[in-house]
Amino acid sequence: MTRASRVLVLNSGSSSVKYQLLDMDDRSRLATGLVERIGERSGRLTHTPAGGGRREREGRVPDHGAALRAAAEELAADGVGLDSPGLAAVGHRVVHGGRRFTEPTVVDEAVEAEIERLAPLAPLHNPANLEGIRTARALNPRVPQVAVFDTAFHATMPEYAALYAIDAETAERHRVRRYGFHGTSHAHVSRRAAALLGRAPGDVNVIVLHLGNGASASAVAGGRCVDTSMGMTPLEGLVMGTRSGDVDPAVVFHLARTAGLELDEIDRLLNERSGLAGLCGENDMREVLARREAGDGRARLAFDVYIHRLRKYIGAYCAVLGRVDALVFTAGVGENAAPVRAAAVAGLDGLGLAVDERLNAARTAGPRLISPEYARVAVAVVPTDEELEIATQAFAVVGS
Ligand code: AMP
Repeated sequence: MTRASRVLVLNSGSSSVKYQLLDMDDRSRLATGLVERIGERSGRLTHTPAGGGRREREGRVPDHGAALRAAAEELAADGVGLDSPGLAAVGHRVVHGGRRFTEPTVVDEAVEAEIERLAPLAPLHNPANLEGIRTARALNPRVPQVAVFDTAFHATMPEYAALYAIDAETAERHRVRRYGFHGTSHAHVSRRAAALLGRAPGDVNVIVLHLGNGASASAVAGGRCVDTSMGMTPLEGLVMGTRSGDVDPAVVFHLARTAGLELDEIDRLLNERSGLAGLCGENDMREVLARREAGDGRARLAFDVYIHRLRKYIGAYCAVLGRVDALVFTAGVGENAAPVRAAAVAGLDGLGLAVDERLNAARTAGPRLISPEYARVAVAVVPTDEELEIATQAFAVVGS
């Protein structure tokens, strides 16, 4: 019998499931898909097999179980269903691994219980991730389910970077500390950046800017994360599409006491109606850039707030690392928005940072340098690939 070499990667969000089937022999995609609007009146599944020929289905998808069963039917129709012998593992993106999970982990009952225990720290995500795990197992109990945690890469942060300066006993009892997120992306991108420089990950210090709809920065010294901008939850740090990033915590008390807002309303305000969307009514950076170009004052101000915060973190992480070998942009905004990259490092020659205008404007599919040859620090664009990273980690754990 041929060796099982396929990994199904599942990324279960609060109302969607993204999936990809990869063949680890050549790292190719055999299928990709998305189930959206789970639990709403009408849902949609989009499935794209390797050779193209996208298929779509509309109809109500009551829960994550139904979403995954529909995806499994599409995969089975391509001859690569969950019961096919070539499947080595299902890799699940699990958002919160707390302090316990610092490595990809095969899910057994104890692991499942621990992911559940961590749900209060990620109430929208961990329960959805768990449902994905349970449904996938029900569809084929013989295939190992592997959890790959968004927090894991950041577990190497020293205590002085992970701790908030609040009452230590309260923090310990309620698990309040910096965990960090987007870990699979920061791990993948910092490693590829080292390869781009032709050096071993252990020899380079890298600042990674993951700028997507969610956004986070990390300082990676010799392949190990030493600081990151997201905190106990993904709300802290950079300005994002709809999240505020850093605010004075007293803003929350003020809104509760003087505006009479309930805590849940403030939670939604900071997570869903802030960031670029809060500042100018638009969370998509493409629109913000287009409106700014057209002279829209609110879009310009939103862009300036976004860039100012980004520059503060670049400066902070230069100080945290001491020596920086590369500054790396990734994710939707980081990979595609040349004006954001140019503004983020403009005038930072003193820190050894510069961007070559022509290289910055060029587009390529793979990793590339955008700094001029004379620059002390390499500035790079490195596409992230969280699914490939999850598949690689899951495959390594099951030892196929
Ligand atoms: P992600 O979360 O990594 O999928 O990134 C999604 C975000 O990337 C979108 O909300 C857009 O704001 C941004 N984005 C995608 N393409 C572009 C582009 N060409 N220019 C600017 N922003 C972009």
